[in-house]
Amino acid sequence: MSYPTFFNPEESYSRSEIEALQLDRLQATVKHCMHSPFYRERFRQAGLTPADIRTLDDLRKIPFTTKQDLRDTYPFGIASVPLDKCVRLHSSSGTTGNPTVILHSQKDLDEWANAVARCLWMVGCRPEDVFQNTSGYGMFTGGLGFQYGAEKVGMLTVPAAAGNTLRQLKFFTDFGTTVVHAIPSYAARLYEVMCEKGIDPRRDTRLRTLVIGAEPHSEDTRKRIEEMLGVKAYNSFGMSEMCGPGVAFECPEQNGMHIWEDYYIVEIVNPDTLEPVPDGEVGELVLTTLKREAMPLLRYRTRDLTRILPGECPCGRHHIRLDRMKGRSDDMIILKGVNIFPIQIETILMQFQELASDYLITLETVDGNDAMTVDVEMKDLSLDDYGKLQSLTREITRQLRDEILITPKVRLVPKNSLPKSEGKAVRVVDTRKKY
Ligand code: ADP
Ligand code: ZN
Repeated sequence: MSYPTFFNPEESYSRSEIEALQLDRLQATVKHCMHSPFYRERFRQAGLTPADIRTLDDLRKIPFTTKQDLRDTYPFGIASVPLDKCVRLHSSSGTTGNPTVILHSQKDLDEWANAVARCLWMVGCRPEDVFQNTSGYGMFTGGLGFQYGAEKVGMLTVPAAAGNTLRQLKFFTDFGTTVVHAIPSYAARLYEVMCEKGIDPRRDTRLRTLVIGAEPHSEDTRKRIEEMLGVKAYNSFGMSEMCGPGVAFECPEQNGMHIWEDYYIVEIVNPDTLEPVPDGEVGELVLTTLKREAMPLLRYRTRDLTRILPGECPCGRHHIRLDRMKGRSDDMIILKGVNIFPIQIETILMQFQELASDYLITLETVDGNDAMTVDVEMKDLSLDDYGKLQSLTREITRQLRDEILITPKVRLVPKNSLPKSEGKAVRVVDTRKKY
């Protein structure tokens, strides 16, 4: 059967078409936001009215919206429609204070499903595919977000939900799953259990495509997962404040994630000065929603650090590409005054073929000083091979020191000895005394 290349016409818009659409939608969004008590007050304080937004550059006159604003207005204070227009809410875990609530109208849910479907279609998902979703359902948007998107593509969709790995594997073989959505740490776990059970993914399953996202991971991690499972793995980026998955997604080129600019205006700013960074430099991603009805967000500071990849993508889409996420500004470890992102450590570790995929960074206070230990699981090295272990530990330590400029204590630990989580992997434990 022959299918169109693009899921929506907007997907193949030229730059000038994208920008014209963005201006229309920005003006409409700003007007609509005046139904929100929060934005009405923000605009009043800034001495702004919707009529002041005449060009896309005028966006910069609008104050930023932060996660703190969502908390301060918990639960419904930012909404731009009355509650009876809303049909769903999602909420973050709220481990650090009030949780945040995101409201959706029926129209928002339809658009969200469309955006996710567009992503899946882009990497070759078609109605003949069987899509298995290993995300938690419920408040975590990776569950329902992919469910509706995959159904919109027309795939047979298996809402397997998180955990119960043996059941996941049974579904793969019984239902002929071809596409899986999993967080990267869980994709590696699926493979480990396949090995334990003597399942060869290439021989015993029809797996072809993997969608991996929700947590930072390195290019080497992707390559490993692709090799293990015999699939192509595509990076998927989203967050609940922007609906969830479907914000940015890799195309078949696997070189950066196209962010759908008919839905979002992208800015990259210096997180300290809040000024735009020069083209192509890393900074904080700031997003303005362009088609949200229940709860549009203007200039939302995501705290995610990334950059815009320069140049055109050979796939023919003109929506800009975001580089792999470096992490969130609040994931940054400050150790002995040095700024370190966990992904820098992962990038080094995953280059060692002897190491498995799981690692844990522990930060402690030892004799009044900051110290870092990196525990990393080995693939199949025996603990008896002392000489080999020592030289490997030394080499890993040396490469980590070159990358992060401090010397961590590296411990090679047996496979499956580090704690596993059902949701996003916990990579950093900080037990340092806070003064
Ligand atoms: P929570 O805030 O509770 O983690 P979300 O599901 O909204 O819940 O998480 C969104 C965040 O997850 C993003 O802001 C980003 O930090 C991270 N994230 C999502 N997708 C990716 C990805 N592909 N690569 C790196 N980080 C990602
Ligand atoms: Zn592309």
